[in-house]
Amino acid sequence: MASYADFYRRSIDDRDAFWAEQAQLIDWQTPPQTVCDYSNPPFARWFAGGTTNLCHNAVDRHLAERGDQPALIFVSTETDQETIYTFRQLHAEVQRMAAVLQGLGVKKGDRVLIYMPMIAEACFAMLACARIGAIHSVVFGGFASGSLATRIDDAEPTVIVSADAGSRAGKPVPYKHLLDEAIQLAKHKPKAVLLVDRGLAPMKLVEGRDQLWGALREANLNAQVPCEWVDATHPSYTLYTSGTTGKPKGVQRDTGGYAVALAASMRYIYCGNPGETFFSTSDIGWVVGHSYIIYGPLIGGMATIMYEGTPVRPDGGIWWQLVEKYKVTVMFSAPTAVRVLKKQDPAYLTKYDLSSLRTLFLAGEPLDEPTAKWISEGLKGKPIVDNYWQTETGWPILAVCNGVEPTPTKFGSPGKAVYGYNVKLLDDQTGAELTGANQKGVIAIEGPLPPGCMQTVWRDDARFVNTYWSSVPNKLVYSTFDWGIRDEDGYYFILGRTDDVINVAGHRLGTREIEEAISSHPNVAEVAVVGVADQLKGQVAMAFAVLKDAGQLDDPAAMLKLEGEVMKVVDGSLGAVARPERVRFVTVLPKTRSGKLLRRAVQAVCEGRDPGDLTTMEDPAALQQIKDLVAPVV
Ligand code: AMP
Repeated sequence: MASYADFYRRSIDDRDAFWAEQAQLIDWQTPPQTVCDYSNPPFARWFAGGTTNLCHNAVDRHLAERGDQPALIFVSTETDQETIYTFRQLHAEVQRMAAVLQGLGVKKGDRVLIYMPMIAEACFAMLACARIGAIHSVVFGGFASGSLATRIDDAEPTVIVSADAGSRAGKPVPYKHLLDEAIQLAKHKPKAVLLVDRGLAPMKLVEGRDQLWGALREANLNAQVPCEWVDATHPSYTLYTSGTTGKPKGVQRDTGGYAVALAASMRYIYCGNPGETFFSTSDIGWVVGHSYIIYGPLIGGMATIMYEGTPVRPDGGIWWQLVEKYKVTVMFSAPTAVRVLKKQDPAYLTKYDLSSLRTLFLAGEPLDEPTAKWISEGLKGKPIVDNYWQTETGWPILAVCNGVEPTPTKFGSPGKAVYGYNVKLLDDQTGAELTGANQKGVIAIEGPLPPGCMQTVWRDDARFVNTYWSSVPNKLVYSTFDWGIRDEDGYYFILGRTDDVINVAGHRLGTREIEEAISSHPNVAEVAVVGVADQLKGQVAMAFAVLKDAGQLDDPAAMLKLEGEVMKVVDGSLGAVARPERVRFVTVLPKTRSGKLLRRAVQAVCEGRDPGDLTTMEDPAALQQIKDLVAPVV
């Protein structure tokens, strides 16, 4: 076995030979002609000239060897459903969905927006898009009509696939009215809306536009839809992420590079074998759901559990019960979920037979030491592997690659640079590389980004270059916008974002997006939103607003009512995921003399820290107001 250091070095120094080998892990209809075309940096074209299909690699390719083995295990503790689809059954369902989408006018390259709860049909829809060369754009079911409308206008989908409702803690969460509102708000109108009726909430169908999956599926039971062989660089999907502006970016992913990257990651990082079961507790609305609920495990020939429900219903043992029942070998979750479980009876961790489980992977937000220790002890020393990545990269940037060489973990660190990623720590002012141990810098990646990472921002190459590749002075490098340090053994530690993005329960939110939503309240003149440390969710959003009519500022009851109203505005526009923990009202916001909002000072005050140098502040009383407001809760 090669040492990880050698494996990594080769991936950088002998890039094309390395990735040409990894490309063998998937099926190609036509083999690639070029491994990496980087003639137009920073745009990388991986495996150009090759043709393949994601759905073929995830489903069809396994039919011969494991057609009757489980592929998709759908479990809903919300509706008490449990359905196992073998690879053969999944193949049939996906073809039905593909035929229905084609019947509704979807062609290769068209977009299909998927706004769905965690149900099997969402998986069919994603794979069906891949099968026919359509580009899916999954929008997290927790987003409300405003967010959805922005994404509809950006993706311009031919068809939207949705459902009557999701369900949360046993209560239906209707989707259809939000979707109708969003379509009304959006300039672009889809040709059709395909709806899964779960019988959870009434739906009013729009004549000529809305179609029911149940009936169309029946009409296509024997559908045979061959895979469309697409170029390796053909976009497979877009997925929107928040950034520093109010407008979310459509991260565009390719086909061939993504399939190769995921196949390799299953082998070297997640160490999952064909025929075993993978359980990721994420949601298909997030990147982890794309890569490690749907594509990664299936490409690797594994069964994947798709779970609708909370970690604590019917009780805090449900996930471990599933591990026992389905002999899960690889589990993937987020630190927030573990912090939720930590509040449950620890006996749940020993109640079930977890002998099948090899490793628990955690990602999405910093893994704090107490949480890591608690779960590691609870799982009797089974390895807990933190890994660090972004929607943009689609698979880990930092991790330990036990599939290459058994590598110890260190508390507080997501590990070392993953093969293929030429990770550098840079001085944010000069762009100079920081090569010494334990120096703080911006985590950057030298191009080309490895296979599977974003190709560009959907329909906005300039934004891709300007946002990601232009923030470090004097260098064309990809910025992660995270601060980090690297110790003498090559382990990285993440120190937080360099921009105004916050991370609530592992979900990335742009403070600007929340500010824009709050500003739409008629009585809000100006607002600042900051991320504040929280024991359960990692961070929460706190809002401080200046009112147009400040007449009632002294009336606590009126302010509480207004706070509720503002929160409703956020719920209605972005969704409850983006709702700030508190909205407080002030007469002025702390700014520099040049008018720049002093977010970091506000954040420091909210966290009870020293706000640092305030000599540039225009009006010191502004920060004092915030201090007075937050003082009782610090
Ligand atoms: P998202 O694209 O929503 O997955 O958010 C990516 C961001 O989440 C990163 O840029 C980091 O700020 C943070 N993040 C993801 N994984 C980790 C991790 N393992 N440790 C610390 N921060 C993380």
